[in-house]
Amino acid sequence: MAETKLHGSGGHILAEITEEQAKKADLGVGKLFLAPIGKLEESKMKKHYCKTCEEEFDTPPKIHLEENNNEEVADNLVLIERGQYTCQKCNSVIGEYRVFQKKDESEEIGSAKTSNST
Ligand SMILES: [Zn+2]
Repeated sequence: MAETKLHGSGGHILAEITEEQAKKADLGVGKLFLAPIGKLEESKMKKHYCKTCEEEFDTPPKIHLEENNNEEVADNLVLIERGQYTCQKCNSVIGEYRVFQKKDESEEIGSAKTSNST
């Protein structure tokens, strides 16, 4: 599958994404963005470009996980994970991700939370 360029605030990431993810990332301005996709698997990310280093690296970025406090951000919408993709070399933030879950799918959410997320 082709690698797609996904833009973040501090650079971009080249990753293999699904059609569904590509739709989410397309905000209608001719570029694809990291933030709306949610979390990308590390194995799907092939390269990252850091604006601070002005350099493209042939490795995935680092993933920096922020604290996960299941914050309710809207009615029926809970932010379950938030984090950043950071440069392997200088630790600048390349982009951010957020993973949301709807509250009323509570049975599915309950089983997903227990242990088999990785
Ligand atoms: Zn860097």
